[in-house]
Amino acid sequence: MSDLFDRRFDVLVIGGGITGCGVARDAAMRGLSVALVERDDFASGTSGRSSRLVHGGIRYLEQGRLHLVHESIRERQTLLRIAPHIVKPLAFTWPIYRGARIGRLKLGAGLVLYQLLALGRSHRPSFLTARKTLDREPSLQSADLNGGAVYYDAATDDSRLTVATAMSAVENGAVAVTHTRVTRILRDGDRAIGAEVKSQHSNEIGEVRARVIVNATGVWQNAASSIDGGSRLRGSKGVHIAVPNQRVGNRDAITMISSVDGRVMFCLPAGPHTIIGTTDTWTDESPENVHASTTDVDYLLRSANSYFPRAKLTFDDVISAWAGIRPLVATQSNNPSAASREHSIVADKSGVISVTGGKLTTYRSMAAEVVDRVQESLGQRIRSAATDRVVLPGADRDQEVARLTQQDPQLGEKLVEGLPYTGGLLVYSLRREMAQTLSDLLIRRTHIAFQTRDHARMVAPHAADIVGPILGWDETTKRARINEFNADVEHVFAIT
Ligand SMILES: Cc1cc2nc3c(=O)[nH]c(=O)nc-3n(C[C@H](O)[C@H](O)[C@H](O)COP(=O)(O)OP(=O)(O)OC[C@H]3O[C@@H](n4cnc5c(N)ncnc54)[C@H](O)[C@@H]3O)c2cc1C
Repeated sequence: MSDLFDRRFDVLVIGGGITGCGVARDAAMRGLSVALVERDDFASGTSGRSSRLVHGGIRYLEQGRLHLVHESIRERQTLLRIAPHIVKPLAFTWPIYRGARIGRLKLGAGLVLYQLLALGRSHRPSFLTARKTLDREPSLQSADLNGGAVYYDAATDDSRLTVATAMSAVENGAVAVTHTRVTRILRDGDRAIGAEVKSQHSNEIGEVRARVIVNATGVWQNAASSIDGGSRLRGSKGVHIAVPNQRVGNRDAITMISSVDGRVMFCLPAGPHTIIGTTDTWTDESPENVHASTTDVDYLLRSANSYFPRAKLTFDDVISAWAGIRPLVATQSNNPSAASREHSIVADKSGVISVTGGKLTTYRSMAAEVVDRVQESLGQRIRSAATDRVVLPGADRDQEVARLTQQDPQLGEKLVEGLPYTGGLLVYSLRREMAQTLSDLLIRRTHIAFQTRDHARMVAPHAADIVGPILGWDETTKRARINEFNADVEHVFAIT
């Protein structure tokens, strides 16, 4: 944290979600001096609770948002290129049932347009008979099946993409500090000149000086605890559940139209699990405490059961449920699914630049626009950075973990049977991925908490034994860290 105090930065970025990390990376690659401060961990907010898709957003075609779809498809191709270790192509099967809101003709036209907007840089969609659709996905409801289509988008690990972006910012000279909150903007007259920050663990307080401040606190811009300078946005809650894949039986991703309310949603493959999501409802809930309700879970189960009738999913099948809040640009619309996913960048009169909305997929282009505004504020000539060409770090993760395991074979042992994570990965995450706490490790650098019914509570003491000596934890600190972790998972994974 002391690295923050000994100089005046060109830009201070508040918030270490995908937006803030993207801004920090772009600004650092343009040669600006950059500080980034995150109150918890990278991706601890909305950026770690997404559907983990890097996608054109086929459903936005229905809303006529061609510009957003075009930009998203271009960014999908860029991310496949600069982060092949984190962003992978994913095939989607879209079954078409008789009487569905989106029938064969409409879907066919949409997919052709989707392909055209990709300017030929994507696999072609294909159209299937009912028989061929069931050959691909035998567990689907067969009654009234009229055919299907296969199209391609991409899947990612949202937390890992955010962390890799932060790592790239740091490699380019940014100072990034997590578990440290901005408590107030410092002003000289009307001008914002920096921020007061407070460390989550030591309670140390200090002042960071910067010529320009970017508020990338996402949905926190509305929260009671927000720093000033935020713009108005509206929060839309989205819930996902994980259930055993063998109960659902989907092979690829499935695009569904919910039988409950006609919304487009997904069943996504995730190793031994299928992730079903998402809901989309306006909320005033605090982003720190947002979690799934029984109504949310019931909606997701009913929607999936109508597509996979043999699954007969019930609450007992739910391994985990979690919620995030989309920071959407404020609108009067009653329907959050119809609200724009475009972003807005506004500067207040003190010069704080706030960025709101957008998607994980479009973070890189959004960040470039923000940094253009930063350079304008600094009175500099606007330069662009090669953020679309330089590969994100972390591709060597598996080799580095293998090297650690060679040095200490015990680190090769699986932390949880059936999941790929080892102690070596925890050590790597501490050393390379700026993890500091058990929540950083068990919720975001690995997804053990999403993938186990006890949300990694059982493995937490063992994980603490592995990382405690490296972090210099004594027994009291270790117990405190385990208790903090248990409180975190209670917040994130509660269903009430
Ligand atoms: C359910 C759901 C599914 C989604 N699925 C997709 C998808 O599949 N694909 C896609 O492209 N997009 C998706 N999105 C949208 C995408 O996740 C968001 O647009 C994006 O993550 C927002 O990132 P952000 O950095 O703006 O906000 P956040 O990730 O919330 O980051 C803001 C950060 O600011 C920090 N912060 C707050 N206050 C302070 C302070 N005072 N000091 C320091 N730090 C502070 C917070 O801790 C937080 O980490 C989804 C969103 C939701 C909710």
